[in-house]
Amino acid sequence: MKIKEYRTQFIEALTSMYGEGEAESFFYLILEEKQQLKRIDLALQPDLVFSESAIEVWNSILEQLKLEIPIQYLLGKTSFYGLDFEVNENVLIPRPETEELVDWIINSQKSKIKSQNLRILDIGTGSGCIAISLAKNLPNAEVFAIDISEKALATAQKNATLNEVNITFIEQNILETLDLKQEFDIIVSNPPYVRNLEKEEIKKNVLEHEPHLALFVEDNDALIFYRKIADLAQKNLSNSGQLYFEINQYLGQEMVELLEGMDFKNIELRKDIYGNDRMMRTGFR
Ligand code: GLN
Repeated sequence: MKIKEYRTQFIEALTSMYGEGEAESFFYLILEEKQQLKRIDLALQPDLVFSESAIEVWNSILEQLKLEIPIQYLLGKTSFYGLDFEVNENVLIPRPETEELVDWIINSQKSKIKSQNLRILDIGTGSGCIAISLAKNLPNAEVFAIDISEKALATAQKNATLNEVNITFIEQNILETLDLKQEFDIIVSNPPYVRNLEKEEIKKNVLEHEPHLALFVEDNDALIFYRKIADLAQKNLSNSGQLYFEINQYLGQEMVELLEGMDFKNIELRKDIYGNDRMMRTGFR
């Protein structure tokens, strides 16, 4: 079958669910990933055909897209902060909001003296996207990353190798951690923060396919991870160090109060590109 004919069929099959624009962008993403062909190749060689086995692969992807399985999981990869990451159903798909948090950290460090060695800890690393993009862009940093999930850590380790950075990965339940055992200059975390009461706002592709372990917290204790991490940071963040969080957009004020009630100063709350309270930074001075 000519690829161009298959293209029409594929886009038609997904348009009612995703809209034509997104259906078309899926088509070209898969074309590049599975066939190593770009849009321009198809334009220049309109008679290119799919083999029987290629059609089988495409049909299977199409069926899974109809079930709203995220395209990133189907392709097994995504891009974050300009880097390639392998993803699967054991890790959250990196979000653009998180790129903003990483960008905030990198830009704050760029204005500081480079010779100084930095120790960074990422708590709840998942795919490793935060830890790895920091390691890649802050060459003077020694990066550590914790996660409770062995499977997530295996993916994060692959991503570190793929991006040629060294990270010390630690399998650990942060809620049961009494002490971080060393001092860090930057502690960063994007922990689970979606309340069960917000489940109805969450799209089916996220709710049914992304790991709940990485997403949800109980309604009556939504800040459980932040309280614990801030508490550990009080003991293990260096005097001039900084603590960064990605947060639930509805809990910005509660987060400020939580940190104000501890030793933290200069508490900054930032909005993401969508205008939602999404990131925080604080330290001891
Ligand atoms: N921002 C994610 C979402 O949209 C949630 C990430 C998290 O819980 N840390 O679902």
